[in-house]
Amino acid sequence: MTPAFERPAITPETLRRLAFDQSIRWTSQNDDLWQLIDNDLWKLTRNPSLILSTVPEQTLEALLRRADCHRLVAGMVQAQQARLQQPTWFARQNFGDKLARVAYFSMEYMLSEALPIYSGGLGNVAGDQLKAASDLGVPVTAVGMLWQHGYFRQSIGPDGRQQALYPVNDTRQMPIEPLLDASGTPLRLAIQLPGLQIWLRGWQATVGLNRLLLLDTNDPANPPIARLITSELYGGDNEMRLRQELVLGIGGWRLLEAAGLRADVLHLNDGHAAFAVLERARSHMARERVTFEVALNATRAGNLFTTHTPVEAGFDRFPPELVSKYLERYAEYELGIPLQSMLAMGRKHAQDAAEPFNMAYLATRGAGAVNAVSQLHGRTSRYIFRELYPRWPIESVPVGHVTNGIHLPAWVSPNAEAHWYELHGDDIPWRGTDQASVDELLARVDDRWLWQIRQHARSELLGFVRSHLARSLAVHGASPTEIEVAGSRLHPERLTLGFARRFATYKRPNLLLQDPERLARILCHPDHPVQLLVAGKAHPADRAGQALLTEWQQFADRPDVAGQVVFLEDYDMRIARHMVQGVDVWLNTPRRPWEASGTSGMKVLANGGLNLSQLDGWWAEAYVADLGWAVGDGLEHEPEHDAVDAEQLYRLLEEQVVPCFYKRDEQDIPTAWVKRMRRSMSELVEQFSADRTVREYTERYYLPLSTAYRQRCADGSALATTLAQQVTWLQGHWHELDFVDVQWLRDGDQYRIKARLHVGNIEPAQIRVELFRQKPDGEGADIHSLRLTRHDGAFAIFQGQLPAGSPQGDYTARVIPSTELGIAIPLELGLISWQR
Ligand SMILES: *Cc1c(COP(=O)(O)O)cnc(C)c1O
Repeated sequence: MTPAFERPAITPETLRRLAFDQSIRWTSQNDDLWQLIDNDLWKLTRNPSLILSTVPEQTLEALLRRADCHRLVAGMVQAQQARLQQPTWFARQNFGDKLARVAYFSMEYMLSEALPIYSGGLGNVAGDQLKAASDLGVPVTAVGMLWQHGYFRQSIGPDGRQQALYPVNDTRQMPIEPLLDASGTPLRLAIQLPGLQIWLRGWQATVGLNRLLLLDTNDPANPPIARLITSELYGGDNEMRLRQELVLGIGGWRLLEAAGLRADVLHLNDGHAAFAVLERARSHMARERVTFEVALNATRAGNLFTTHTPVEAGFDRFPPELVSKYLERYAEYELGIPLQSMLAMGRKHAQDAAEPFNMAYLATRGAGAVNAVSQLHGRTSRYIFRELYPRWPIESVPVGHVTNGIHLPAWVSPNAEAHWYELHGDDIPWRGTDQASVDELLARVDDRWLWQIRQHARSELLGFVRSHLARSLAVHGASPTEIEVAGSRLHPERLTLGFARRFATYKRPNLLLQDPERLARILCHPDHPVQLLVAGKAHPADRAGQALLTEWQQFADRPDVAGQVVFLEDYDMRIARHMVQGVDVWLNTPRRPWEASGTSGMKVLANGGLNLSQLDGWWAEAYVADLGWAVGDGLEHEPEHDAVDAEQLYRLLEEQVVPCFYKRDEQDIPTAWVKRMRRSMSELVEQFSADRTVREYTERYYLPLSTAYRQRCADGSALATTLAQQVTWLQGHWHELDFVDVQWLRDGDQYRIKARLHVGNIEPAQIRVELFRQKPDGEGADIHSLRLTRHDGAFAIFQGQLPAGSPQGDYTARVIPSTELGIAIPLELGLISWQR
């Protein structure tokens, strides 16, 4: 027997540290430990810190003396240390010199069931990227809100109607700890609301190498209304939302600074936290003793705004009176600018006093770069932001895109993970960046192997559905017999479709219900039956969404399909996890282009699930024939077109999906189906992983933004001061610019062009003269710049030549500020003049 003293010192405290770290959840191998301590509680809550909080100290000590438990904990500690010692992607690239920290702000985070401070997609993006950042070693400190009630919980009454419930999150049972200051005292800081000061408390969660800091206003020193600010995510009225966003943006930036965390880059995950832009500038002003203009110029170079909305109505907007009430003093005393200037930052038209204050505009006007979350969403966003850049062609609207991805270890099933582990050995495949490629792994397994994983996953899912259903029924007072037979019509060999999302009209959760009889026929086919799992919440204020939900309830209650269609109440991370791991096909039918990206369909990929989706969001760029199925024609349509999409959806199911699933070889393997699984995994798993997303953010945005920010800040904000002056000067003198004439001369197969301009007081080096031609397919433009050949007083001549391929009349001459100035054009300065 090994003497006790040779073992690493493992105490209940070791266990607690592990329970606090989200990263131990990234492999289900670690789940054994919590199962060993309390299997039932683990199954119900998946909350290690809750489990530990229920076990007396002596019991824990006794457990740790047990060899099996000790071995598990020692293994986890070792694995964690090994991971910490391994140089990360970020470290190997030596990026650390260029980027010390990214501060990531989001209204919600979906990290685990144990921390219910999320609603859905936005939180999923934030959570998965934070996890991937840790895997890659990208130093991110996230900032969010500790919602006392989180998002509402859903209960479906016997009438099929949704009830919203708000159980309280108990901080003692979540994997968070108070955030301490340098002296070890819990951090408390104040922000100003009209006529009163309110207190914020800080918490932290550990996410591998990174941390998530959470703000909480539930301090006894605050008046009740202020204590409720961090009560409900997406709850309350407009004024409450404004208070929440002030706490997140201004309070969040102050919390970072109070904790001594200086960031080079501020990443806004949607516009909710846009006030952080102002607070970051204010803090820079105070530290560097510069004006707000200079401070904003310096700090915005390090700000990235990610927009998530595909329609203008999705932006947060506040009445100007409300913003004035809350921010007048802040603008005038803290930022030193007139309230009107601050309001203008949130408006299309600075002078329009009636125009509401738009958080996305504030975020854009305070950013060094803006991005959308899929290729198609990039295009949609350039359209909805176009009015901020009047007279600029749509493709120049400065919104790029980084397509979302998901954190694979969070969504891959334990069984699939174990299989891949067996095959690949030391690490879970598709994690970090040195992993064996998906193709290499797929080449090593036969169809039977893959199909078995699928079969197993489906059967696990049905087990979960039965127990979930039984619990729901019991809660709603069903009889023991009803509970017993619940789920008995689900069959582990049947094609299983999954459909789960927010019930909002644009998501068209009822496209499948356009022709209920036809759907029933598909489900109840005598030889090829299909079962369907549905889940989703409708926002408590969204009546239309709730009506759609009730429609599904009624359909699921039809005697002919009963038991074959199951509505799983209270859609959350836990239900999502089981569904994406087990279903054969994931359905998604939003109205294009309203799904900015969508991520749930990505979660099925590594589990061997296939997608049948509208060509919208990520699927519009992921889809190719033979790896899934596509609904829609890749164009936008009015709601009247729904019937066409529904028809296509039914036909795909009837003619392709169902037959393909049931067509078996002599070993009962659907070879054509497995072939699709292989293609889908091979083409999409890595491409739509958060790993790829975070690397893209780092290389394309974080690093260049950090460099620009540091340059502008150097030597007492010297560059920022110059740039801010240039901007003001150009704005003041731009009207002096005018084209005198543009001469075209044909010379063989070339045009020679000579543009004469009145430049007034503007230096020719400050501008760029270009010929612009819109490409005929509407995709992009052809731009040639002309070079200065003469400058004489108020006049300048610019010349150039270009191939005489297209007619001269296709080109228009224009002048814009020079990109050599180091100012982002047109994001920071949208001046442009066209030849008349
Ligand atoms: C993945 C996920 C989402 C996002 O799903 P989409 O419908 O693709 O936007 C929302 N809610 C939960 C619980 C999820 O797991």
